[in-house]
Amino acid sequence: MAVQTVQSTSASASETVDLGPAAALSCRECGERFPLGPIFACESCFGPLEVAYDLPADGPEALKKRIAEGPDNIWRYAPLLPVPADVAAHPNINPGFTKLVKADNLARELGITGELHVKDDSGNPTHSFKDRVVAIAVEAARAFGFTTLSCSSTGNLAGAVGAAAARAGFRSCVFIPHDLEQGKVVMAAVYGGELVGIEGNYDDVNRFCSELIGDPLGEGWGFVNVNLRPYYGEGSKTLAYEICEQLGWRLPDQIVIPIASGSQLTKIDKGLRELIKLGLVEDKPYKIFGAQAEGCSPVSTAFKAGHDVVRPQKPNTIAKSLAIGNPADGPYVLDIARRTGGAVEDVNDEQVVDAIKLLARTEGIFAETAGGVTVGVTKKLLDAGLLDPALTTVVLNTGDGLKTLDAVAPTTGPTATIPPSLDAFRAAGLAG
Ligand SMILES: *Cc1c(COP(=O)(O)O)cnc(C)c1O
Repeated sequence: MAVQTVQSTSASASETVDLGPAAALSCRECGERFPLGPIFACESCFGPLEVAYDLPADGPEALKKRIAEGPDNIWRYAPLLPVPADVAAHPNINPGFTKLVKADNLARELGITGELHVKDDSGNPTHSFKDRVVAIAVEAARAFGFTTLSCSSTGNLAGAVGAAAARAGFRSCVFIPHDLEQGKVVMAAVYGGELVGIEGNYDDVNRFCSELIGDPLGEGWGFVNVNLRPYYGEGSKTLAYEICEQLGWRLPDQIVIPIASGSQLTKIDKGLRELIKLGLVEDKPYKIFGAQAEGCSPVSTAFKAGHDVVRPQKPNTIAKSLAIGNPADGPYVLDIARRTGGAVEDVNDEQVVDAIKLLARTEGIFAETAGGVTVGVTKKLLDAGLLDPALTTVVLNTGDGLKTLDAVAPTTGPTATIPPSLDAFRAAGLAG
């Protein structure tokens, strides 16, 4: 990521901003603090910035009650997010509180004897987990006075930004690699914003956006995953909050999370640690596992080689939503997997398709390729003895299979096509 322009401009950067309990930005590397603003890298060491909070002083029971009384979406956790207290009244896409599905059939198939749950984020407004991060970035964009929302995207983010901008009254202009799945392209365009295909892969798109931010052409633009990235990232914490609340304020023992940039995985860990600190869940160990596609596996490759540095790769996989060859949060993912006793693993495209079908056949959940990666890696980790089949495990499905039909279409279709007669049906041998 380009660091030549740490400070980006906005209409009201100098006014005090109200982002609820968010107190400041702090550098993940050196800890230096900065006032809340549309900045993403530390001025001293170029480390990534994250949101620091004045967390609520209510005791755990009072806080649980406040959460339970909130709306059935991520705003129920507003006391733990960088958003104003009246956020639920703003026009936004209000994602979250998606289903946590107890996946007994899949558990049986995989040989899991403990509890297995699928957190199904295909139920969000634009059918992926990206609605969570965008909803928070919209509030930051509003607070900083931006009028245009933008992003570099592997597909789902572009759709989420398009929808949120339409609803919240922003102009949007989003950037994607030119060769994405039709479902992703159509969903990114249908909300009426500008959509630009870049001739290159995601890493080229991201580099382009970093240049645009530093140029007068990008003035007044809030890039949800670049200059608003510290706020955007906080949206992923809501997955941790929901999973624990839906388990009856319990920590799962093991969570399997897909990795693109690695932001989601690192923020789920941050969310779990906050819940422990606030006393909302018991302080006990949990393990975090990361999932990648073999054709874009910079983090799992580093994990398995015992490296601390993530070497960029050129992506080639059907799991296009995870195809980031140079993941910004890769090193932090390695830290978290190692610190918690988890692992990072990858599966090939054929295993991704098999896993999509396995989840559909056992639980009636149609996942996009990223979900296939996660379920496929879960199976591989179980087979390798790295996941304990006797514990409580949560697997994330982060997107909807309708957006990646091409992945399964060649091997999925009608069992038979027949004339409308009983004789023909009898002949097809499908009765009984
Ligand atoms: C973006 C995305 C991810 C992962 O996102 P990161 O936070 O960049 O790791 C996972 N699944 C789907 C479907 C996505 O679109």
